[in-house]
Amino acid sequence: MAQSVWGYESHNVLRGGPLTGAYRLRQLHLHWGSSDDHGSEHIIDGLKYAAELHMVHWNPKHGNFVGALKQPDGVAVVGIFLKVGKTPKPEMKRILEEIDNIKTKGKEAPFHHFDPSILFPKSRDYWTYHGSFTTPPCEECITWILLREPIEVSSDQMAKLRSLSKNGENEPVNPLVDNCRPIQPVKGRIVRASFK
Ligand SMILES: [Zn+2]
Repeated sequence: MAQSVWGYESHNVLRGGPLTGAYRLRQLHLHWGSSDDHGSEHIIDGLKYAAELHMVHWNPKHGNFVGALKQPDGVAVVGIFLKVGKTPKPEMKRILEEIDNIKTKGKEAPFHHFDPSILFPKSRDYWTYHGSFTTPPCEECITWILLREPIEVSSDQMAKLRSLSKNGENEPVNPLVDNCRPIQPVKGRIVRASFK
């Protein structure tokens, strides 16, 4: 059984659980579908969630992020499922409010002094496995920490995500939806749970 105590020990430094050593936060991103019934990249016993949040961290012992991508212990990604529900997580609001400012390709919204752990669900139970990025070139460098408990968002918030565009500001509208990778075979990977 995987060790279950883990989290941010200080600002943006992740430690514990299946990880050896400390990992630094690099970026956060989301994957979502064209409707609420799909969009997550991981499927748990056939259950698809509306979206999946990824917090990407790298191992500073490899010098920099690009160097870490080439190492089997280079990257740790925390995955959190988003499900449409009646009690949307208030902390998601701040992120989603920024969406109106980054509607089109290339726009950015800065977050200063952001504590990613405010987005965690109550339970820290997780599944873990060693695998790859879900976007090309899909290097096998990632320790996945996939949280069992989803966080809730409203359907308005999901609609807001779907209002983002792939196109630039003055180009024809091309909605950014279904930015999740098709499900991949397990191929003998071992998935461990931190809980019984
Ligand atoms: Zn991702």
